[in-house]
Amino acid sequence: MPPHSRPLRPPNPACKAWISSVFRYNGAMRDSFLPFCRPSISEEDIAAIGDVLRSGWITTGPKVGALEQTIAKRVGAKHAIAATSGTVLMHLTLQALGVGPGDEVVGPSMTWVSTPNMVELLGATNVFVDVDRDTLLASPEAIAAAITPRTKVVIPVHYAGAPVDLDPIRAICRTKGVMLLEDAAHAIGTHYKGKEIGDEDPAIFSLHPIKNITSGEGGVLTTSDDALAKKVRRLRFHGLEVDAHDRSQQGRSPQAEVQEPGYKQNMADMNAVLAVRQLPRLDAFIQRREEISALYRRELANVDGVLPLADPAWSHRHARHLFVVRVDERKAGLDRTAFMQGLKERNIGTGIHFLASHTHRWYREHRGHWMGTLPNTEWNSTRICTIPMFPDMTDGDTMDVVRAIKDTLAGAKAKVSMAGATR
Ligand SMILES: *Cc1c(COP(=O)(O)O)cnc(C)c1O
Repeated sequence: MPPHSRPLRPPNPACKAWISSVFRYNGAMRDSFLPFCRPSISEEDIAAIGDVLRSGWITTGPKVGALEQTIAKRVGAKHAIAATSGTVLMHLTLQALGVGPGDEVVGPSMTWVSTPNMVELLGATNVFVDVDRDTLLASPEAIAAAITPRTKVVIPVHYAGAPVDLDPIRAICRTKGVMLLEDAAHAIGTHYKGKEIGDEDPAIFSLHPIKNITSGEGGVLTTSDDALAKKVRRLRFHGLEVDAHDRSQQGRSPQAEVQEPGYKQNMADMNAVLAVRQLPRLDAFIQRREEISALYRRELANVDGVLPLADPAWSHRHARHLFVVRVDERKAGLDRTAFMQGLKERNIGTGIHFLASHTHRWYREHRGHWMGTLPNTEWNSTRICTIPMFPDMTDGDTMDVVRAIKDTLAGAKAKVSMAGATR
């Protein structure tokens, strides 16, 4: 063996771990990259998309109709309205509810910025509420305290697939006369006290590829409010009373007129068919996510400085959309950036869900008064990290993540003790 390739012989275990972390001298590393999420697409799904392409009707048509009917039936709502994204539905719904200048919209800053952005674009005012430090859910008390005479809508988020405590939140909204609109982007398949999310108040689901089921891009609003459904359908398609598919049907007027100026946000059948195919597998997907989540919880229970979220105390079924841990630098010996880098070097993907909305640049510069007012949100915003979880992951993949976490932490601790030893 030539001298330059002689393996290093570290003098003590701390140095060995340090060398492993620095030189990636790591026998346990997986050789393929594990993303933090990957949609579950079967050969039959691909064939079904091919069938739509061959059918001669690829935009809004029978597949969108089937998706809307199936989701409405599943959640127990009168209407389901599909569009090109959850974000778009947030825009259309808030506009349909008449949200505009002078109105306040109450919701957590710990969400995807798409909701606060739509509120700003409509000229209304975001009123952010803090979340629970360990569930990242907004409490009824926080929501009640944020409501003013100018509040028009309250938008709680069923974060990571755990439901907010809906009963008291519904009671508060009814008493105060404000609309409740649920951000259910993470919550398709979530139950609250034995019932599906989306059964009562308007709820918006996302079908983005990271979410529990997908249409490529897409979203669905469920509601039992006839007037709201009619208005959102209309805004979705030019402000016409009918959709493209309806126009192709016998007996409907091809001369439909604009009732009010609308957008062009209808979902295409080539997208809808994928979600139609995935819906029957949703419960199996959640079951598998539950198993992966339980394995993580068991394996990470004694890992210092990597703290999973807590489940809510009320009766629910969690959709296990994301597995989120908080990296506590004091205990872990490294911050979130170094943690994510360590996992990346070990071929494990991670994400952040989310950087608190009010900490994004535009919000810092234009809505800076929120900084420092949401302690639990800000504490989590700098520490949360999403580790891989998706139905096609094996237990072996899950253990690769656990090993990579332990290895990254051991490397960081060794570095700290080496630094101490040389001082
Ligand atoms: C994904 C997501 C949305 C938006 O959904 P899109 O379909 O991507 O537009 C809204 N809110 C939350 C909390 C999300 O995670």
